[in-house]
Amino acid sequence: MSNLHYQLSNFFKHKCAVWEFTLKCNSKCIHCGSSAGKIRSNELSTEEALLLVNDLRSCGYDGIALMGGEPFLRDDWYEVAQEIKKQKMKLTIVSNGLVIKNHLTKLKELQPECVSLSLDGAIPETHDYIRGIKGAYYKVLESIKLLQKENIPVSVITTVSKLNFKELKLIRALLINRKIAWQIQIAIPIGRFPRDLVISRKEFYGVAMFIASSLQKYSIKELPLIGAHCFGYFSNFLPELGLEPWIGCQAGKSVLGIQSNGNIKGCLTLPDDFIEGNIRTTTLSNIINYRFDLKYAQYSEKIDLKNYCATCKMFKKCKAGCLGTRLALNSSDNPYCLRAIENELFKNKSFPFRWKIDSKISNYKYLYQKLLLK
Ligand code: SF4
Ligand code: SF4
Repeated sequence: MSNLHYQLSNFFKHKCAVWEFTLKCNSKCIHCGSSAGKIRSNELSTEEALLLVNDLRSCGYDGIALMGGEPFLRDDWYEVAQEIKKQKMKLTIVSNGLVIKNHLTKLKELQPECVSLSLDGAIPETHDYIRGIKGAYYKVLESIKLLQKENIPVSVITTVSKLNFKELKLIRALLINRKIAWQIQIAIPIGRFPRDLVISRKEFYGVAMFIASSLQKYSIKELPLIGAHCFGYFSNFLPELGLEPWIGCQAGKSVLGIQSNGNIKGCLTLPDDFIEGNIRTTTLSNIINYRFDLKYAQYSEKIDLKNYCATCKMFKKCKAGCLGTRLALNSSDNPYCLRAIENELFKNKSFPFRWKIDSKISNYKYLYQKLLLK
């Protein structure tokens, strides 16, 4: 598989553990879901981290994404990353890009499958405001260049909120034809992100159309773009925005969330009452094999039978989309569902927004004109 493909499919295809390697962070992002900044008092030691890599391998995980906080702030990141590679696992490092420069030689030696950097604005003012650090924008752009110079695959993650959704087109212009994979996800009200900055359902649909039209307009070589788990589900009009057909929330299945103190959840997006154990007191295989299935099955059954997910014909496959999004929004249904939004819009005969059409996007032109511009 080419690196671009791996970068795109990493979040979907492999059994991947997403590891909050430390809560320590040198950014102060408004949308940070884990309220990162200070180190947790009881983070795993180097020895414990190395053992955990081995346990993950034994439990069938073939990829680890080290994130934070900022993973490069742990002195032993290189040692642990080396162990991941030694175990022949895919290594992704998710970083804010502020200190990449200091770690280039080690990264070059490691050859991770991907270094994912956050880019949340097309202009310095927006990115720096969201990240809470002056100069962060230029540092990220510089980090992208440095990594590419060393032939290290790079991807960019953009977290969309009311603060930046209008800049997507400009961010796209920065990324085109640069062999940078791009993942778009929505900011949800967890950690320190305020609910009033979450994009509306109409804005969400607009972002989905932006992804769809970009996929149509550009080849995977020109713009390897993907919508994260929050961009679905079963639209009547838009194609799959992820690589795979949606098969339901992957928490505790192909996705595993690890907190820096050894707590295990199905996915880091989920609240702390989804912590299923700690590797200091229970073995990883015990947590994975005996706790997860039951917990997540319960949540699919908790759908209010009067609501739209319960009456949706896709429910059995879909299971109401991203569980983390539903819980963050305190909703048993998934308000950020393309199918549900479409059903509501077409029923009400009111359409969400006016979008400038590129005449080359013939497949979507009809849809835009007939359904969205009336
Ligand atoms: S309405 Fe609910 S069950 Fe149906 S596709 Fe949307 S999220 Fe999935
Ligand atoms: S909670 Fe959301 S992000 Fe996490 S695995 Fe489930 S669908 Fe994916």
